[in-house]
Amino acid sequence: MSPASGTAAPFSLLQKAFSKALQLLLQDKHQYQSVDVEVGAEGEAEEVAKSYWHPDGTRLIDDPLSQPSGAGMQARSFALPPIQIWCEECQSGTLFKADVMRCRSVQGKSPTEQSFLLFYQCNDCLKRRITFLVTRKGGCLELSGRDPLETQKAPASLPRATARFYADAQVAHHTGQALAALCLLRQFIEQFWLKLPDIQTALSLDPRLRVDEIGEIYERTLPIEFKAEYPSLMRCHEALTAAINGDAVRPDVFQFCSSEILDHLDGRRFRRLAGSTASPFGEVNVGATRLAVI
Ligand SMILES: [Zn+2]
Repeated sequence: MSPASGTAAPFSLLQKAFSKALQLLLQDKHQYQSVDVEVGAEGEAEEVAKSYWHPDGTRLIDDPLSQPSGAGMQARSFALPPIQIWCEECQSGTLFKADVMRCRSVQGKSPTEQSFLLFYQCNDCLKRRITFLVTRKGGCLELSGRDPLETQKAPASLPRATARFYADAQVAHHTGQALAALCLLRQFIEQFWLKLPDIQTALSLDPRLRVDEIGEIYERTLPIEFKAEYPSLMRCHEALTAAINGDAVRPDVFQFCSSEILDHLDGRRFRRLAGSTASPFGEVNVGATRLAVI
């Protein structure tokens, strides 16, 4: 097989570009996100789109080249790249390698569409396995599925009564539900505030308090040195609200606020502020607890 024209890139360059795009997709992208195979000239993009791609070392289980629709197509293999991702077993970012013999490529509805079923295994523990479903449409690779789903455990510093909002926000973010992720993260902050004894007292005096007023009351409960040292939950709430309303905000607002929230709550726990425990019973009124103990 030879390239269709004199200007076409050698096979190896297209194969490298394909593997590189796949590596980026599996390492850095989330469900339903995609990556384009980076090529130089326009003709090369067409070559990528019209080829039948299959992982190196696998056999063709359906041979589209022998079909009428496969006329003019070329089979091209690509190396399955190692990927650096989180391993739940090792509890760290580790190198995953493809289990080549189990990987498959399947022709899609049109000659330029394919699906890849890719099996990866943690190279450290050799226990954790992840299956990816990747769809190719022309020169674009999309992460169509992943088993198990990418999940984030809520850190221990989060109060258990509200941690699920934070955890659900992370899942929404990693499955491409950007707006839902922002709403859930903002909801986490609001629910956290509402369960604090000081806020409950303020609400019992004025049940019609707006959420921004609740945020201000919360800020006033914090020691000055704490506010100087740790990020502000109210600022996170404002940034998330702006993003939800479609205002111009930093593109990584979700990740930024997720991290700021954790720093803030870690600070509360470190300083032993009231309501900062991870009690399964939710926030407790420290004063009432002390009375009960006495
Ligand atoms: Zn592992």
